[in-house]
Amino acid sequence: MGGFFSMSLLIKVSYFVAAVLFIVGLRRMSAPATARGGIVWAGVGMVIATLATFGTDGMHNQVLIISALASATVLAWISGKKVAMTDMPQMVALYNGMGGGSAAFIGAMELFKAANTAHSMSPVATTLALVGVFIGGISLSGSLIAFGKLQGLIDKRYTFPGQNIFNALFAIAVIAAGVYTYMHMETMNIWIFFGGALVLGILMTMPIGGADMPVVISLYNAFTGLAVSFEGYVLQNEAMIIAGMLVGAAGTLLTQLMAKAMNRSLGNVLFGSMGGGESASGGEQGEMKEVEGADAAIMMAYSERVIIVPGYGLAVAQAQHKLWELTQMLTNNGVDVKFAIHPVAGRMPGHMNVLLAEAGVPYDMIEDMEDINPQFNQADVALVIGANDVVNPAARDDPGSSIYGMPILEVDNSKNVIVIKRGRGTGFAGIQNGLFFKDNTKMLFGDAQEAVSELIQGMKEL
Ligand code: NDP
Repeated sequence: MGGFFSMSLLIKVSYFVAAVLFIVGLRRMSAPATARGGIVWAGVGMVIATLATFGTDGMHNQVLIISALASATVLAWISGKKVAMTDMPQMVALYNGMGGGSAAFIGAMELFKAANTAHSMSPVATTLALVGVFIGGISLSGSLIAFGKLQGLIDKRYTFPGQNIFNALFAIAVIAAGVYTYMHMETMNIWIFFGGALVLGILMTMPIGGADMPVVISLYNAFTGLAVSFEGYVLQNEAMIIAGMLVGAAGTLLTQLMAKAMNRSLGNVLFGSMGGGESASGGEQGEMKEVEGADAAIMMAYSERVIIVPGYGLAVAQAQHKLWELTQMLTNNGVDVKFAIHPVAGRMPGHMNVLLAEAGVPYDMIEDMEDINPQFNQADVALVIGANDVVNPAARDDPGSSIYGMPILEVDNSKNVIVIKRGRGTGFAGIQNGLFFKDNTKMLFGDAQEAVSELIQGMKEL
C-alpha cells in the first residue's frame, strides 16, 4: 500500500484545487471591479495544475517542456505588456488559436502513437482525440484569420460564388477523412485529416465580415475549450477536462449572447453572409453639418437629458477619463446624463463597460441597449463618441445592408445628435452611416480626447 500522500493523490488534490481556483476566478471575472483579481486566481490555478503535471507518471522531455514554457512565458509577458488596449481582441484571437492548436496537436500526437506504437486507445478516446483535432484545428486556423482581419492584414470579406456549397462539401469530406482515419489509423491519414480541418477553418472564416466578428471570436473560443476538454479525456488529465469545459461553456454562452446582440442565428453568421455583398448606399445623402466644440458644449450644458454613446474610437483615443470629467461637469450643471452601451461596441465583449469602469463611471449611470433605446426620444442630446456601426440606421432601415437586422442604439430619435470622430472613416463593418447626414446630427471632427477637451473648455467658459 502506498503512503497516504502518494504522488498520484497529490496530483489529484492539486488538480482539484486548480479547478476550484478556475471556477472562482471565472466568477470574479464577471464584474469589472473584481475581474483583475479573477485573472490572478485562475492564473494561480493554472500554475498549480502545470506544476502538478510534472509529477505525472511517464513524463519525459522535461528539459524541452521547460524551455518551451519559459520561452512562451517571456514572449507572452512582453507582448502582454506592450499590446495597446485597442489591439487586445487580436491578441485574444491569437492566443485562443494557440490553445485550439495545442489541443489539436496533443490529439494528433496521441493518434500518431496509436498508429505507430503498441500504445492502444479505447474507441471513446480515439473518437474524442479525432473530434479534438477537428475542432481544435478549425479554431487554430480560423482564429489566425480572425487575427488577420482584426489587425487589418486581411480584407474583411473574401467570398467566391458557390462558397456555401463548397464549404459544406469540404466539411463533409474532412469528416469522412476523420471516419476513415478511425478505421485506418495511419500517420498519413491523420495528417490529411488535420490539414483538412485547418483548411476548413480558413474557408469558414474568410467570408465572415461586416459586424459579425464578435460572434466568430467567441465561437472559436468555445471550440478551443471543447477541444482542450476532449484531449484532457484522452490524456486522462482532470485539470484539462475541467479547464476546457469551463472555457467551452463560457465560450458557448458568450457566442449565444453575441449572436443575440447581433440578432443573428449562428448559422446565419457562418453561412448567411454570402452573396449579397456590402450595401454601397449606406444612406449617404447630402452634407455633413459641422459644429464647433464651444457650440456643442452650450447645447449640452443647456440640455435636460444627455445620453452618451461610447464606441471603439473612445478606446482608441483613451478618452474615457476626460469623458468622465465632462460628465461630472454636466451633472453639476443639473443635466441628467446616462451612458448607453451596445453589446458589441468596441472590439471585445464588455469593452465599453471596462473602459467606463476604469474611468470611475458609476454603474447606475450605465444602461444596456434594451433599457436605453426607449429613452432616446426624451434626450435633448445624444453624444456619439467614436461609435459608428452600433448607431448606423441602415441596420434598421436598409434590407440591402450587410448589417441589416443588427439591433442599434436608436440615437437618431434624440432631438440632437453630436458625433465625435476624426473624419469620414467608416466603422468596423466598412459601410457608410446615414446618421451623419441627418438634419438633427452635427459632427464634431477630431480625436475623441481632443474633442472632449474642447467640450470641457467650452463648459468652463460658459
Ligand atoms: P466602429 O468600429 O463601428 O466605429 C468606430 C469609429 O470611431 C470609426 O468610424 C472612427 O471614425 C472613429 N474613431 C477611430 N479612432 C478615433 C479617435 N481616436 N477619435 C475619435 N474617433 C475615432 O465602432 P463601434 O463601437 O460603433 O462598433 C463596433 C464594431 O466592431 C461593430 O461592427 C462590431 O461588430 C465590431 N466588433 C466588435 C467586437 C466586440 O466584441 N465588441 C469584436 C470584433 C468586431 P474616424 O476614422 O472617422 O475617426
